Amino acid sequence: MFDKILIANRGEIALRILRACKELGIATVAVHSTADADAMHVRLADESVCIGPPSAKDSYLNIPALIAACEITGADAVHPGYGFLSENARFAEVLASHHIAFIGPKAEHIRIMGDKIEAKRTAKRLGIPCVPGSEGGVSDDREAKRIAAEIGYPVLVKAAAGGGGRGMKVARTEDDLPHAIATAKAEAKAAFGDDAVYIEKYLEKPRHIEIQVLGDGAGGAIHLGERDCSLQRRHQKVWEEGPSPALNAAMRERIGGIVARAMQELGYAGAGTVEFLYEDGEFYFIEMNTRIQVEHPVTEMITGIDLVNEQIRVAAGSPLSVKQSDVVIEGHAIECRINAEHPSTFRPSPGTITYFHPPGGLGVRVDSAVYQGYTIPPYYDSLLGKLIVHGRTRNECLMRLRRALDEFVVDGVDTTLPLFRTLVRNPDVQNGLYDIHWLENFLKTGGIGSEA
Ligand code: ADP
Repeated sequence: MFDKILIANRGEIALRILRACKELGIATVAVHSTADADAMHVRLADESVCIGPPSAKDSYLNIPALIAACEITGADAVHPGYGFLSENARFAEVLASHHIAFIGPKAEHIRIMGDKIEAKRTAKRLGIPCVPGSEGGVSDDREAKRIAAEIGYPVLVKAAAGGGGRGMKVARTEDDLPHAIATAKAEAKAAFGDDAVYIEKYLEKPRHIEIQVLGDGAGGAIHLGERDCSLQRRHQKVWEEGPSPALNAAMRERIGGIVARAMQELGYAGAGTVEFLYEDGEFYFIEMNTRIQVEHPVTEMITGIDLVNEQIRVAAGSPLSVKQSDVVIEGHAIECRINAEHPSTFRPSPGTITYFHPPGGLGVRVDSAVYQGYTIPPYYDSLLGKLIVHGRTRNECLMRLRRALDEFVVDGVDTTLPLFRTLVRNPDVQNGLYDIHWLENFLKTGGIGSEA
């Protein structure tokens, strides 16, 4: 096992990793920018190193500074969390060349899944069902029109390097297609420095359902059921739950089995998520995230399995602590991503938290790195914390979530808490009747209005 882990991240995920390390008896090193000197992850770690100025590119994304921090402190492994360098294959390779373990999958798997065209090709080869679309990238409008006519309109033009919902454009007719390609390419070039795009059938009313996997890197892999992340705004997840209101145990076993077998064949190591769109009883692969995800606690609450602990074990060369038959899904869990943003304009609201009272009680978990008196810096994403609630049934979970949301007080900055208080009382949400467009439509047609 490792002696000392450096956590190359900040905020709630840095705390989450720190907690797993402490329970394993592993010493921790926090890194921080000058803007995060007072952050909770710095206070709770055994040691800390300042790695640069506020801008992420000069601190949390600064590979030489991170390597130097490992060498100064003698850390023998790095946990990248999510975002930042978590899906950067080169970072994993640079660490390996310094004999420092990267707590994540093999660099080649990060690289394959980071290119969406390559990822789709690999998924198909491994027997994972995919959205009908172009085999590779599309270069000219004529070829694009031929492919689109084959799969049928509407189609979605997507960036190969995509992420965060950027570089995605819908074309409803052949006339729309050249413009959709041109704008998707321009957006992709600006966001990722790579203008490769591909075409996919645009699904009108899908749900977003993803399968959590764990692999031992030696051909052993299991699945831990699904999370339903259909409630999205601008392709960003807002509310995640498991199990999905749309699946039953037989459907879960079928898709989970397909994904676990694919990961066995790949020799995948550590935690990963295979994301699907789900429509009319069919699953369609969209991408794989080769890291721990923001919404991982949903799975932890319904399985009791510590995903970060398993990531660390596998990276250290130990087997997974659980086998497929140990994975038993119990009850229901829902996560709300609470952002420091205005609840209807979604304008970021950095500033000082003057009062902070998180909810508690049976089945309530709050993963957050803020505290009363803490000043949220303006440089990073606006996630203030995650509220995760567990109940024996979905109904019990919803009642408990409503209670927990009403208990939660954050003063001094705007938060999205009022949005969740409205959502938890909405009949469609209560009945699980939503698809990936539901939340956008809801916000467009009045949203939280008077109830907020
Ligand atoms: P990103 O990496 O940018 O997040 P994804 O491929 O994961 O891109 O897609 C993000 C979201 O975009 C999905 O959750 C879904 O809401 C929407 N989306 C992606 N592909 C399709 C498709 N073929 N049809 C309809 N919606 C899609």
